[in-house]
Amino acid sequence: MNCGERKTAYIGMGSSLGNRLQFLQNALCSMHRSDQSIQVTGVSPVYETPHMGLTPEDSERYPPHFNAVARISSLLAPRQLLAELQLAEEKAGRQREQKWGPRTLDLDLLLYEGVQMHAPELTLPHPGLLQRAFVLLPLAALEPKLILPDGARLEEWLHKPIIKKQQAVQTRQQLHIPQYAEEM
Ligand code: ADP
Ligand code: MG
Repeated sequence: MNCGERKTAYIGMGSSLGNRLQFLQNALCSMHRSDQSIQVTGVSPVYETPHMGLTPEDSERYPPHFNAVARISSLLAPRQLLAELQLAEEKAGRQREQKWGPRTLDLDLLLYEGVQMHAPELTLPHPGLLQRAFVLLPLAALEPKLILPDGARLEEWLHKPIIKKQQAVQTRQQLHIPQYAEEM
């Protein structure tokens, strides 16, 4: 725990199997805690992206992904938060059979306020953050003015060729921020 101090973090969410929208909505609900240790405070639009597998054929073989980014306010420290995200993936029945294979739910910790670290089990910012249109586009839609830990502006990255050549299309699907019972 952060000793009562709340920190802002961003979670990248993806699903490519089954009811993809429902998996993303359930992920938001399972992150939002009744003890308020994690509060979901914002969510991006949903983007649809071809499957990025290990080989070019994988994008034809496997269904496209739904991706979105959530902003949370967390009392949990980064490693505790990652453990919670992995638990939510397990609850969604995620199997880890194949690297970059299709999955019911993928939850990545993209950014955690004030933390930069390089451990194999947790790297922050997430190493794919600036390489993947399906992460960058929803994050920029949610937080257009975001400044990265190295001082770069997120929006500068949207125009890079590595992002422009990838397909990620905003859908009309919407996710809802979970509410606490007393707020309803
Ligand atoms: P991917 O997200 O690249 O498809 P996985 O979800 O299977 O792959 O994650 C592989 C490993 O990446 C996990 O075991 C996790 O410990 C590690 N990892 C390192 N940094 C992060 C991060 N910022 N967010 C999520 N997982 C991370
Ligand atoms: Mg992951």
